[in-house]
Amino acid sequence: MSLLNETHDPALQSWVTSANAAHGDFPIQNLPFAAFRRAGSGEAWRIGVAIGDRLLDLAAAEARGVFAGEAAEAARACTGESLNPLMALGAAKWSALRLALSRLLRAASEAEPVLRDCLIPQAEAEYTLPATIGDYTDFYTSIHHATRVGRLFRPDNPLLPNYKWVPIGYHGRSSSIGVSGQAFARPRGQTLPPGADAPIFGPSQRLDYELELGVFIGRGNEIGKPIPLDEADEHAFGLCLLNDWSARDLQAWEYQPLGPFLSKSFATTISPWIVTLDALAPYRVPWLRPDEDPQPLPYLESAANRASGAFDIQLQVLLETARMHDAGAPPAPLSRTNFRHAYWTLAQMVAHHTVNGCNLRPGDLLGSGTQSGPTLEEAGSLLELTGGGKQPVVLPNGEARTFLEDGDTVVMRAWCERPGAARIGFGELTGRVLPAVS
Ligand code: CA
Repeated sequence: MSLLNETHDPALQSWVTSANAAHGDFPIQNLPFAAFRRAGSGEAWRIGVAIGDRLLDLAAAEARGVFAGEAAEAARACTGESLNPLMALGAAKWSALRLALSRLLRAASEAEPVLRDCLIPQAEAEYTLPATIGDYTDFYTSIHHATRVGRLFRPDNPLLPNYKWVPIGYHGRSSSIGVSGQAFARPRGQTLPPGADAPIFGPSQRLDYELELGVFIGRGNEIGKPIPLDEADEHAFGLCLLNDWSARDLQAWEYQPLGPFLSKSFATTISPWIVTLDALAPYRVPWLRPDEDPQPLPYLESAANRASGAFDIQLQVLLETARMHDAGAPPAPLSRTNFRHAYWTLAQMVAHHTVNGCNLRPGDLLGSGTQSGPTLEEAGSLLELTGGGKQPVVLPNGEARTFLEDGDTVVMRAWCERPGAARIGFGELTGRVLPAVS
């Protein structure tokens, strides 16, 4: 697992002065990765690292010869259009590049005059998916979400008996994953109206978001060779925000017996930035399993996972309706929660995914499942917040929502902060609902 080192020192400052602002997402202790280009330029995509309100162009920095040793090898892997080559190199090379970047960007670094023109303002950049995503798997790690949603779908049997034994997941669709700013047409499909005995076809009337984190897989595993629980971190490159848009009315009609299909596959949005596991090291926390619950089978159990398998990551979802946008009103907060409430850890997801011999590949994406906390105010979906569409959420301008309407923009944010560590953030994820195609 990632250990604390000089890159996490909260006293570090950067010569990129915007990185030293209090409460920023991208101080020198973070250094998340994205794929970007100058907005509207049509240039090739390239890899950048966030520092304050700037991006460091890694190909440009590499061309100036500022890296050496393992860090140089890692930087050369960042001179293409996606992060897959860096992801494939493994944890030692990622850490070497992080250390080099931290030293190069530190206040008083001799590299400042060399690297100054490798920076571009984030405000002048546009982003694409940071990696080519071969496979996307969505888990279901929040027991609070699983229980509340289960109660709506099956009042007499909310939590199925396998939940506390198996990290539940399903294979999602990678082709429709987009980066923040994604806009998509309201999906159409089959739904069964209440009381009807035959379905109708049309636009979803119960369109929802799901507040999740995404895990980008780094180095993969050979088919037939599972990743042991205590090696899982070395295969996880980093985390991003993820909105698993969901059409609840399509879902209710189609989900048995094989799980979600068209209710999820029309769009999934991720944030452009990948925050590395190294950067998150100060925010690892113990993973707790209530004594009265089943304890994990041996392949999902370890002392290290108990000691620091969970992550203290704060999550927030906000909504901006078309009317709010036109009025210049800020997005309205809907809920807040924390990834530490998850019933299963990142390492357990990776170990479970591969225990049957399934191979993961660099750039594969795992969704955490909707993250909801123990109280209703911490719910990560409208389905939960509105009690299945029965109690509308009222927004500051008087508008109300049970589910999403055309023109709505969903905003997600995540950050980590605690005394004794630098605050780091994930930036922002936005996505917008367009009218259904006619
Ligand atoms: Ca989901």
